[in-house]
Amino acid sequence: MKFVDEFREPELIHKAAEEIRRLTDPSRHYRLMEVCGGHTHAIYRFGLKDVLPENIELIHGPGCPVCVLPMGRIDDGLSMARDPNVVFTAFGDMMRVPGTLGSPLEHKARGMDVRIVYSPSDAIKLAQANPDKHVMFFAIGFETTAPSTALTLMRAKSLGLANFSVFCNHVTIIPAIRAILDSPDMRLDGFIGPGHVSTVIGCRPYEWIAANEKKPIVVSGFEPLDILQSIVMLLRQLRHGEARVENQYKRVVPWGGNRAALAAMAEVFHLRPYFEWRGLGFISQSALRIRDTYAAWDAEQRFSIPGLRVTDPKAAQCGEVLKGVLKPAQCKLFGCECTPEHPIGALMVSSEGSCAAFYNYEHRKTAALTNLSASA
Ligand code: SF4
Repeated sequence: MKFVDEFREPELIHKAAEEIRRLTDPSRHYRLMEVCGGHTHAIYRFGLKDVLPENIELIHGPGCPVCVLPMGRIDDGLSMARDPNVVFTAFGDMMRVPGTLGSPLEHKARGMDVRIVYSPSDAIKLAQANPDKHVMFFAIGFETTAPSTALTLMRAKSLGLANFSVFCNHVTIIPAIRAILDSPDMRLDGFIGPGHVSTVIGCRPYEWIAANEKKPIVVSGFEPLDILQSIVMLLRQLRHGEARVENQYKRVVPWGGNRAALAAMAEVFHLRPYFEWRGLGFISQSALRIRDTYAAWDAEQRFSIPGLRVTDPKAAQCGEVLKGVLKPAQCKLFGCECTPEHPIGALMVSSEGSCAAFYNYEHRKTAALTNLSASA
């Protein structure tokens, strides 16, 4: 726990907040996007907005993989599991994400064989233990989790495991940032760069943001002091009119990335020509597909998938929130029709979803204070 204690030290946090105030130009409004859902969660959990000057606005980015997956892909994954011989496996955070006919958990309640796994290799073990069933793993995530899926597929191939496949929904972070920057209604001053993804891809892939878009980006850790230090680093650059890539999370992120993880991904995956993202539409070369050399373990090639495009419920404004155009509480359904107990959109389900983070840490606190003052 040494690292956690150090990065939550109140005195250091107070000093970082002072430095942020010193570096902030009161005549200017700063819009900084935290790309990663893990940062959004930490910002709300630790109440970091309360220590920032009012003219620093944090915009939530598209870095929650469960949130950006369009409903049609969830329907596609569940369609395969209608076969009674198929076991649908996924991480726990997928289980309550709504598809058109309900979430995987709701399908389980109707009798479908849906199981939570804690790693893709658990799905392999399940396949080995159930040779009369076909185990399909619903793979999701950015470059953070793609290497473990790649290694799992390599293992399935080396075992010659015939009753196992992966439904690949892995996406890549750089095209999503590019789509945000291309969005005409988005003005940003800089980025708090994703920490987890960068442990795999490193910092070099962000260099075009600084060079071409003239926006600073600081790859950041997830503790309160990490995030505040990253804001300090961004403000220093903005103050001097600079735009560079910096690495605040050096204790974890190597500048050149993780070569072994990147090699495993290159062995198993290639880029799809295009992929649909919730809120961002179709983005070219933004997702991974399993190579033909692993076709025997590719659920998309083994099963017939409807591949229908499904739009979110009309009143749901998940897309606008994902793009950072709206704040969670500005969605018409927030806190009434859509709550963590009864989610309409994936952003209210995932632990990295901005609506869930805002609801759990800000909305509940405000509601509790309102109740307190009403009963006083
Ligand atoms: S409150 Fe619900 S419907 Fe609205 S943006 Fe958030 S997840 Fe989507």
